[in-house]
Amino acid sequence: MQFPFDNTYVQLPESLFSRVRPTPVKAPRLIAFNRGLAETLGIAVPDDEADLAEIFSGNRLPQGAEPLAMAYSGHQFGQFVPLLGDGRAILVGEVRDAAGQRYDIQLKGAGLTPYSRRGDGRSALGPVMREYLVSEAMAALQIPTTRALAAVATGETVVRERFLPGAVMTRVALSHIRVGTFQYVATSGDVAALKRLADYAIERLYPQLAGSEARYERFLEAVIARQASLVARWMHIGFVHGVMNTDNSSISGETIDFGPCAFLDAYHPGTVFSSIDEMGRYAFGNQPRIMLWNLTRLAEALIPLLAETQEAAIAKAEASLATFKPAFEAAFEAGVRAKLGFATPEPDDMALATEFYRLMAAGTVDFTLAFRRLADAALGELADASVRQLFAAAEGFDLWAMRWRERLAHESGGSEAAQALMRSVNPAVIPRNHRIEAVIKAAIKAGDFDPFHRLAAALADPYSVRPEFQWAEQPPKPDERVLQTFCGT
Ligand code: AMP
Ligand code: MG
Repeated sequence: MQFPFDNTYVQLPESLFSRVRPTPVKAPRLIAFNRGLAETLGIAVPDDEADLAEIFSGNRLPQGAEPLAMAYSGHQFGQFVPLLGDGRAILVGEVRDAAGQRYDIQLKGAGLTPYSRRGDGRSALGPVMREYLVSEAMAALQIPTTRALAAVATGETVVRERFLPGAVMTRVALSHIRVGTFQYVATSGDVAALKRLADYAIERLYPQLAGSEARYERFLEAVIARQASLVARWMHIGFVHGVMNTDNSSISGETIDFGPCAFLDAYHPGTVFSSIDEMGRYAFGNQPRIMLWNLTRLAEALIPLLAETQEAAIAKAEASLATFKPAFEAAFEAGVRAKLGFATPEPDDMALATEFYRLMAAGTVDFTLAFRRLADAALGELADASVRQLFAAAEGFDLWAMRWRERLAHESGGSEAAQALMRSVNPAVIPRNHRIEAVIKAAIKAGDFDPFHRLAAALADPYSVRPEFQWAEQPPKPDERVLQTFCGT
């Protein structure tokens, strides 16, 4: 097995990481392997599943691997923790694809590291399956995200609230540098190391800024722009990250860490799934605000690099942070217009959208179905029934639909173009919580991974019209509803 390794993180100051090898597992067995992704990454993959299981469990290190655990800090639910770090994830190395793009290959659940604290360094099978499905679904939804390359059962047991089968997940990212990585170096007071990290992140993730004047300020603004756009994309498809701590906010602008994440079924901005998010800090509707909070922590960490005096640096940081709100709003509104079929903006569009959201919230209407069926209705009133029946108070919907149709008539492309636009942004299939829970249950209780693979297939092409996957479009029945998710750590 050949990986085109080209490792650079190991060249950064030693305070930033610890070299550590994966701890072998007893009986690795391949659950899933993402051949398409492996091909894109230029990894030459053997056909033999046992070989794959050996490598992607960490039992056998591929040639050229230089395994390490990254150090980072983080605000967890608003509380600063000076040293977190990869407590169960090990970066095996970096590869470059044919286009020269660099990616981290990381094993999650690969054993103890110097940052494990009281943890066991392991992952349970359920969270590995969840991350595999949801991160690949995000990619198919065309949302920046870390990817899943492999999932391997370890043949070992992990102890959580109960005994559970263990697994290792292979994660691929543009980089695993987080807001928390900058916080970690900034807290150490080592400005030279901070500069090295910032230059490294610029070179790797924002190379167009490398030679620019005031490059750290431009860098901060570039991260803000990517994160503003990312959180807007989450809001468009009803994704609740669930644990937006600063160590889970990536400098690359990718969605990272699929712990207690979940998609909305019924729309409500206050929706919280995570069992540990008691205050609703990371509720669906709070996500833009929290992202700005996290970016403010990044700006604070960068202060020593922004200007000669603290006062000037703070002024620059504040000016950069002020770009978040307009960037988020522009991205959010453009996406919402497309969801409603509007290609050419008009001043009252957001008022119309807000009313639709209000009706969905008031009627506990399924968010994904409502927009998808609205696309059916774009061709004419006759197709209204399927969307109309989602609203308990159908008169409210009828009044709204009249206004929507009047507005749609202004579109020069006609109703078919509007429908195509709507279908290209309103997914039919999302990774619904009850489906994920069901496939995990089948795997754990009966060792049956067929439901997992069927769901993965349904999630692979979410915007197309595919009658054979209609089963995956259905929201949960009342007794299937999942109200709470767990970190599983
Ligand atoms: P997370 O909630 O996955 O973002 O993890 C938060 C922190 O806890 C990170 O530093 C993780 O590396 C660490 N952590 C989570 N689970 C474990 C585990 N089972 N063993 C060791 N460290 C862990
Ligand atoms: Mg994390």
